[in-house]
Amino acid sequence: MARDCSHVATIRTVRPSALGCEECLLAGSRWVHLRLCRTCGHVGCCDSSPNRHATKHFHATRHPIIEGYDPPEGWGWCYVDEVMLDLNGHTTPQVGPIPRWV
Ligand SMILES: [Zn+2]
Ligand SMILES: [Zn+2]
Ligand SMILES: [Zn+2]
Repeated sequence: MARDCSHVATIRTVRPSALGCEECLLAGSRWVHLRLCRTCGHVGCCDSSPNRHATKHFHATRHPIIEGYDPPEGWGWCYVDEVMLDLNGHTTPQVGPIPRWV
């Protein structure tokens, strides 16, 4: 049974903070998929990645909604309500090619 998300109104137009996961790029570590915070534009890595920076960003900031972001996939996820959201085309364009590990 799908629950409603009460945070849809907090979704903002953001500029991605980095070309890939901010923390992974700094640390030189890898990620599997990227998640973009729709509150502040933080780019983090998904829960299949070793460092799970998107989830860590949520725990640190309580920013509720992320977007599937490599490339923009058109869906969002609310960490608080644990529901998938349809962004209805309001996805965030990439600012440049996403760097990948070799
Ligand atoms: Zn929500
Ligand atoms: Zn990361
Ligand atoms: Zn954020």
